[in-house]
Amino acid sequence: MPPRQEVGSAPAFLYIVFVRVHPWVNPNFYKLKNSYDIMERIPIKDAFKETKPVLLKGWVHETRDLKKVRFLILKDITGRIQVTGIDGKTDAKVFDLLDNLNRESVVQVTGTLKECKQAPKGKELIPDSIEIIAEAKNPLPIDASDYSKTELPLRLDNRFLDLHSSRTQAIFKIQSTIGHEFLNYFIKKGFTYCHTPSMIGASSEGGTELFKAKYFDKEVFLAQSPQLYKQMIACSMENMVTITPVWRAEKHNTTRHLNECRQLDIEMAFSDAKTVLEEMGKAVQHIVKKVIEKNAEELEILKLKLKIPETKYLTFAETKKALADSGIKIPSDDLTPEAEKKLDELFSDTIVFVYDWPMKGKPFYIMPKGENVNANLSEGFDAIYKGVEISSGGQRIHIPELLEKMLEIKGMDPKDFKSYIDSFRYGAPPHAGWSIGLERFTQNLLEMSNIREACMFPRDRDRITP
Ligand code: ATP
Ligand code: MG
Repeated sequence: MPPRQEVGSAPAFLYIVFVRVHPWVNPNFYKLKNSYDIMERIPIKDAFKETKPVLLKGWVHETRDLKKVRFLILKDITGRIQVTGIDGKTDAKVFDLLDNLNRESVVQVTGTLKECKQAPKGKELIPDSIEIIAEAKNPLPIDASDYSKTELPLRLDNRFLDLHSSRTQAIFKIQSTIGHEFLNYFIKKGFTYCHTPSMIGASSEGGTELFKAKYFDKEVFLAQSPQLYKQMIACSMENMVTITPVWRAEKHNTTRHLNECRQLDIEMAFSDAKTVLEEMGKAVQHIVKKVIEKNAEELEILKLKLKIPETKYLTFAETKKALADSGIKIPSDDLTPEAEKKLDELFSDTIVFVYDWPMKGKPFYIMPKGENVNANLSEGFDAIYKGVEISSGGQRIHIPELLEKMLEIKGMDPKDFKSYIDSFRYGAPPHAGWSIGLERFTQNLLEMSNIREACMFPRDRDRITP
């Protein structure tokens, strides 16, 4: 291999003198009177503090032509700014262009900020130059400035453009806080952030329908939950936390189910249902507190006032009674959507933890009460928040013989779960955990009627693109 050519300071100096600045070589030299092309772009929110000329890059939110005065509202992810051109004062080409910008086109603008009482945040940008970086075709397939003008399916067909809208951005900025603060809360407590496989050799839980995929000459399934893996991790690394995608092949087409969603999961060794359930209460309160602190602007865009939720602990039997007193009947082993809504009416702004759940309504790996194979109740629970289940969890069975019996009771063959059961034969402590659906939680926290609003690129029975 030839030796790499070193770029020394002499060539760099010649480049700067002759290519960047010298008028014979660079025809743009005279346009560089403010050296904008060697300025760095700054975010719009920072521009308001600047007295020096600035270079901004972003999208055309809208333009307005009042004949003698033309406005451009420029946006980037940090905010919006008014760019004002005045006939006769602003460079003629710039003034012209202000009337010829398509909405959502990408542009760069240079200029200086000036006080202006009528402008948003009391300042406007007086432009020296405007350049189109990437033109947006006209007309746009959806109106990205007003989400309410377009039905959700069409917005999702054009999600790349829907993501230009401040409302959609607000939802996902808040979702970013939710995921980040969930991890923060547990990592600060010493949990290890772990990753579980998405492709699995056998169904991890039974029950739920799975997507199949080809894997060389074998068949694999897409994981419906990280359940069995996080248990193995907890039995060696004690406290683990993860955010992971899961896939559920159920053909439901509801406003609270997706076929691909993300889960916020924890699993704790030497633990029980009560401990992890209290942890969930504190974690959710932490997350909501941080959303209130960090996302004030986004909550304002969504016209939402959030409260840090209270917590309430009810046994399944107490829940059933409270619901019956309000005229709602439930099956012996599950809550109905109607019952979950009623719980929100009875206990508003409260996470309701329903524990001592009947064993019949919980998966085989949930510990029966008292480690008794014949117990009617389990160490499993659900959490209901804002009228919908946001989480399920509980203490797991760490005793191989009990696991085998529970599988048989549930009509499954322990042989199909051999490697999972065997993982508990070599020193497995009692452990417990839970899982919150990220999109489900976002949907409920932000009081949105459809879970698809809370998923950037939803996968449901009818949608696999974009
Ligand atoms: P549900 O009864 O609401 O269908 P589930 O009991 O089948 O949910 P779990 O296996 O308990 O779901 O999953 C844990 C959490 O993951 C749920 O409480 C929910 O927040 C979320 N979740 C589960 N399935 C879905 C799905 N299909 N789409 C979106 N989120 C889901
Ligand atoms: Mg559940």
